[in-house]
Amino acid sequence: MDLGISGRIALVTGASRGIGRAAAGALAREGAHVVVAARGVPGVERAVEELRAEGAVAEGIVVDMADPLGPAEAVARAEALMGPVDILVANAGGPPPGRFLDVGEEGWDLAVQQNLLGTVRLIRAALPGMRARGWGRIITITSTSVREVIDGLALSNATRAGVAGAVRTLAREVAADGVTVNNVLPGPILTDRMRELLSGQPDLEAAIAKRGARNPTGRVGAPGEVGDLVAFLASERAGFINGASVMIDGGESRVVG
Ligand code: NAD
Repeated sequence: MDLGISGRIALVTGASRGIGRAAAGALAREGAHVVVAARGVPGVERAVEELRAEGAVAEGIVVDMADPLGPAEAVARAEALMGPVDILVANAGGPPPGRFLDVGEEGWDLAVQQNLLGTVRLIRAALPGMRARGWGRIITITSTSVREVIDGLALSNATRAGVAGAVRTLAREVAADGVTVNNVLPGPILTDRMRELLSGQPDLEAAIAKRGARNPTGRVGAPGEVGDLVAFLASERAGFINGASVMIDGGESRVVG
């Protein structure tokens, strides 16, 4: 299937590794020109080198999604490097774990800045150009916690729900301009982040296998599987998918819908 996005310009944040990196790779394989953005210079440079080695047209920029000015600067720099952003993948690291009352004011503020407002600011910066050109794809990366809260992840549960509400609202406002806005809800995906979270276990591989055994598929997901979903949602083919929160969790969540 030709996804019809060859030559489209994509900005992917949180793209030095994990799900964001996989999304950048999947978009690049479909011929999109990709700007990878993340906080650290070495990670960004490595991702750009890898993508170019695979034949992609790729550039890199540094952004901190928690910085109030960061997202708008990222869009401006991406557009200066590549041209107008057609595809925006809003992603960042997840907030730290913690129960509701165990998280202090600072923790709440950082999570809201990075995971809710960072996403909103990124979209606010890229959207006017998409609307003016009559085509755009916005994909936010959140979590299955949008549908079913995860115990001990108060910050994630709260901020992801905010993103989901914003996406659903915005999707209805911009659909007539050729722009779609969708939300991807990953379940357990084997990224560096998951490895880090499990690194306290005596046998990392056994811990990963054990986590996978809790899933109906008997395994955890691969970042590339999420990347492929992102590429499809970003595609010409997905023009009627709008305002959706799409779970990719191997069927683990028990919620209906
Ligand atoms: P990861 O930690 O492996 O990668 C996160 C990426 O975001 C890295 O490139 C990092 O440099 C970048 N980043 C972190 N904070 C940033 C910031 N403030 N500004 C810019 N870039 C920043 O994480 P991942 O596993 O790929 O997860 C991506 C998102 O999906 C996270 O929000 C995570 O909570 C969510 N998620 C992941 C899983 C999973 O199982 N991996 C499940 C549900 C939700």
